[in-house]
Amino acid sequence: MGSVHIDDLAGIDRMTETEIPDDHPRRESLRTRHRIEEGVEKGITSKQGLVAQGRGEAFDYLLGEETTESAERAERAAVARILLADHAVVSVNGNVAALCPEDAAALAEATGADLEVNIFHRTRERLEAIADHLREHGADDADVALRGLKADARIPELSSERAKVDEEGIYSADVVLVPLEDGDRAEALAAMGKDEIVIDLNPLSRSAQNATVPVIDNVVRAFPRMAEFADSLRGAPTTELREIVEGFDAEEVLDDAERRIRGGLDDGDEDTR
Ligand code: ATP
Repeated sequence: MGSVHIDDLAGIDRMTETEIPDDHPRRESLRTRHRIEEGVEKGITSKQGLVAQGRGEAFDYLLGEETTESAERAERAAVARILLADHAVVSVNGNVAALCPEDAAALAEATGADLEVNIFHRTRERLEAIADHLREHGADDADVALRGLKADARIPELSSERAKVDEEGIYSADVVLVPLEDGDRAEALAAMGKDEIVIDLNPLSRSAQNATVPVIDNVVRAFPRMAEFADSLRGAPTTELREIVEGFDAEEVLDDAERRIRGGLDDGDEDTR
């Protein structure tokens, strides 16, 4: 993180993603904003997605805008859990589709998980725009099952549009990866007995608190890192994957992130600064 004069930011705001200088101190953050903005313009991301992004950015700033050692441990455990699953599904909303479609597709392909589009502000056009966008960014139908358009089942005890899921997708999955989840759906999925992997920059959110594996990191860093772990762990013996999952401590990860946020960079894990 570095300080930037407000005039610089005003100028940057008018630039396209490719025009942001490589050495700009807030390059990644600005690139992310551009992607979300484009997502809204393309009808992929809802306007509320901008608010969620702003909330996430604030936590990311406090966490040091980097993947902490404990987040990386969670990412590895999450991948091991997905590889052990009978049927894993990666849930994709408008923010994830705009921010990291290639990495979501790569993770699904490397782990054999399905991708399921699931959005709060649900319209047929948005669902299809997201599915098309994922296909354009590497979610090839031959390699990845793209779900969410049938919506032939419902998550019990949830009244929002996000209750609509595919029978062959999230409804019947034993492990669901839910990035940027709203707390209500995270609770309802946990109540269905699913193993839930949550990626959320807020360790205090109900989603993170309900997760079997909470990954307190930005999706733009977490997805590619998890895809790398998937490549390296794919051939590992089941016993090794089980050891990774059983050795993982969700409380420790949540506590570490909260300590880091409350105490600044002087607290939290020692080895990432
Ligand atoms: P809860 O009820 O669990 O507190 P919520 O339904 O109020 O959650 P939203 O306001 O929809 O949650 O916010 C979405 C969540 O996603 C926030 O906790 C925010 O920190 C997180 N978030 C936003 N952008 C990112 C990102 N790029 N990477 C990871 N997490 C993010």
